[in-house]
Amino acid sequence: MTKWVYSFGAGHNEGRADMRNLLGGKGANLAEMATIGLPVPPGFTITTELCTAYYDNDRRYPDDLDAQVRASLGLIEEAVGLRFGDAAKPLLVSVRSGARVSMPGMMDTVLNLGLNDETVRGLEAASGDARFAWDSYRRFIQMYGSVVLGVDHHRFEEIIENAKLDAGVIEDTALSPQHWQAVVAEYKVMVEQERGAPFPMDPHEQLWGAIGAVFGSWMNPRANTYRRLHDIPATWGTAVNVQAMVFGNMGADCATGVCFTRDPSTGENTFYGEFLVNAQGEDVVAGIRTPQPLSRLRAHPGEVSMEEALPSAYADLVAVRETLEHHYLDMQDIEFTVQQNKLYMLQTRSGKRTAAASLRIAVEMAEAGLIDRREAVKRVNPASLDQLLHPTLDPKAPRTVFGKGLPASPGAASGVAVFNSDEAEMRSAKGEAVVLVRIETSPEDIHGMHAARGILTTRGGMTSHAAVVARGMGRPCVAGAGGISVDYGAQTLSAGGKTIRAGETITLDGATGEVFSGAVAMIEPSMSGDFATLMGWADQVRRLGIRTNAETPLDAETARKFGAEGIGLSRTEHMFFAPERIGVVRQMIMADDLAGRRAALDKLLPFQRADFTDLFRIMHGLPVTIRLLDPPLHEFLPHQDSELAEVAAATGQDIEQVRRRAAELSEANPMLGHRGCRLGITYPEIYEMQARAIFEGAIAAARETGEAPVPEVMIPLISTRRELEITRAQVDKVAADVFREQGQSIEYLVGTMIELPRAVLVADKIAEIADFFSFGTNDLTQTVFGLSRDDAGRFLPAYVEAGILPKDPFVSIDVEGVGAMVRMAADKGRATKNALKMGICGEHGGDPASIAFCEEIGLDYVSCSPYRVPVARLAAAQAALGVGVDRTA
Ligand code: ADP
Ligand code: MG
Ligand code: MG
Repeated sequence: MTKWVYSFGAGHNEGRADMRNLLGGKGANLAEMATIGLPVPPGFTITTELCTAYYDNDRRYPDDLDAQVRASLGLIEEAVGLRFGDAAKPLLVSVRSGARVSMPGMMDTVLNLGLNDETVRGLEAASGDARFAWDSYRRFIQMYGSVVLGVDHHRFEEIIENAKLDAGVIEDTALSPQHWQAVVAEYKVMVEQERGAPFPMDPHEQLWGAIGAVFGSWMNPRANTYRRLHDIPATWGTAVNVQAMVFGNMGADCATGVCFTRDPSTGENTFYGEFLVNAQGEDVVAGIRTPQPLSRLRAHPGEVSMEEALPSAYADLVAVRETLEHHYLDMQDIEFTVQQNKLYMLQTRSGKRTAAASLRIAVEMAEAGLIDRREAVKRVNPASLDQLLHPTLDPKAPRTVFGKGLPASPGAASGVAVFNSDEAEMRSAKGEAVVLVRIETSPEDIHGMHAARGILTTRGGMTSHAAVVARGMGRPCVAGAGGISVDYGAQTLSAGGKTIRAGETITLDGATGEVFSGAVAMIEPSMSGDFATLMGWADQVRRLGIRTNAETPLDAETARKFGAEGIGLSRTEHMFFAPERIGVVRQMIMADDLAGRRAALDKLLPFQRADFTDLFRIMHGLPVTIRLLDPPLHEFLPHQDSELAEVAAATGQDIEQVRRRAAELSEANPMLGHRGCRLGITYPEIYEMQARAIFEGAIAAARETGEAPVPEVMIPLISTRRELEITRAQVDKVAADVFREQGQSIEYLVGTMIELPRAVLVADKIAEIADFFSFGTNDLTQTVFGLSRDDAGRFLPAYVEAGILPKDPFVSIDVEGVGAMVRMAADKGRATKNALKMGICGEHGGDPASIAFCEEIGLDYVSCSPYRVPVARLAAAQAALGVGVDRTA
């Protein structure tokens, strides 16, 4: 018999925190909290395995499930002394979904399940509180009706709004038991109209309805979208938790709340959260009433903190905070309810946080001895460092304040205002920066939030959906900007008599909550403090070297500031495109004889030498890899008549001659055409000029800085040993010439890119000539798959969507195929030369999963764009600590 159901609370703790795959995160942690003695209402968890079995079996439950659920329900009844469906002393339960990772899109929780026309009387009598009983009942019909029966929640809200109008009150809590009774009656009529059947009165039917809805929600479109965005396999399944109710809506000594054990925005070690007196469930995040702060220190005038309103429950909560942090050794996100001054824990999980908070918490926990430094290094997701590299608003920049909300997720963003998620996605796909503006967001907005640079909502608090999701995604967010009103129909947002229309630019400051009309200048972030500390710890454990791909002095300086240990790829062709050079480059290409080409190259030499001298100076003492010209010549060709005329004039040809030459040079498939070392072999003078510029530049920089750089001359697109032999001989000859002329020699290497399948297959032979290999995984991916990156947009996304490929192979290395090639070339290279230096350049050098692969096969370094350098340093450290590629588990 398979065990489908695990009990928790009241002495029956069958689960543990490390059973999250089976019990889901919520269920596993409820059991764990109960085990360490925290007050958790008793309940049980139906496993994720049941979910999988349900889908494998045509959406039918196994036969033995019913008996197991009944038995566990019996344990709850025993523990609390109430019976499910009992007219006098009814047990009420909540039904809660809970996957391995917390996941928006799953079914919302149903509270107060078990109520019907009969049991509500029992609840009323037992509690002696009619308002409470009928409030609970209407909440149940509303939740069950919308979540399980699919009735539009607006239909329920209309009825309440009308009841409040009739009663002349503003707050829900001001409605009397009679009002709620009337609301319940109307609800039932409305539900019956909507679905053509009465609201279910049988508690067991209610229970199975809710359980079925949770499992059903696992495959709904919202959940599917979220899983796709976060690489979560559908086979994981969700669990269902059924738990005895505790009531935060029984009066002034009751409350419900959510909190974080540390500040999730900044990471500051202070208790952080919100609560509402006399409220239930998600009232706190729903924005119906304004939540109040937990601690007195955080209360503004007019606010009443939990510390003041419910001092003894608050003291218990502070103790729980301590217990949980020491137990889980991580910042926790907690949900709790207070019933008649007694605290109950309803959830704990590792709290979502900004990158800044993640860093600070990891560093402070290590400094406090809760975790060690290696653990701290593992705690920060390298990809999230991106957030810290986000710009913030320049304090000196002029700005026009439009409105203000809560600082829900830090960073600044400018973009055009867009009012719905589909449009946000569409416009951003076209390359526009958009800011998503919503009254509030729901899980249906995930794709729009993802596409937006920033998110603005006019309703909801620091723990609202928008705030939590934005922090998780690293999007700046201003939430609950109550002074701004949004009109979806008119597509406007207005505040203080001013109006902004859809498509006009606005700017958000997620750190202050301010909203500005128009764009505001931004500044680059600083790399000190916790960032520097954690990076230092990462550097102590990583083995891989981190270099950067850089052509310009600005890129090289930025990368060095970010900790790059040299340049792994400098693409010299970028230097050819500069306006004052392109004319000379064109003369070189157009020249129809060697003398003409040499004349043009002589003019290019000083430019290139100056470029290289700059790079060598900035990277003094560090290796600098310079790749000789790679792209096909036609990329530099003149197109417009004015350009053609310019070349004609400079070379003394007529314009038609030039046009003909341009046509001659054009290729059917330039990616596989006359490029890379093929150019160097057919026009050796080009590589000779570049080699000369490199060695002259290196000697100049060595004299200037007193520290010789180590130039690594890299020959692109090699597929045979002979190609490298020929081009290397040219470079060595130029080096010898320059050293003789300058009366000084320096150390240098000559190596090659491994970016063609043939080069992989003969890597042992190529290694006889090469001092190093650099894996050009962009081209290698194109040539191993036989697909052109520029055309892949038409089908690759569909491949990833359908799971034919797990990820875009240009973003994260295809370990199985391209990775096998890299491994093979590395092995063959080492077989020839034991100490052959090897690295990777290209997009993959900054991707954490690809970096883990590079660590595994023992490469010497990775090279990535300057802004990815910190990401790569941390990812390399984690790879050295054995953190796997899968970050979702
Ligand atoms: P989510 O996954 O959306 O956070 P939960 O299952 O945690 O949903 O439920 C949301 C809220 O409902 C909880 O924070 C809590 O306030 C309330 N809740 C859930 N179960 C109970 C219960 N047994 N008693 C009282 N309140 C509950
Ligand atoms: Mg929820
Ligand atoms: Mg919850």
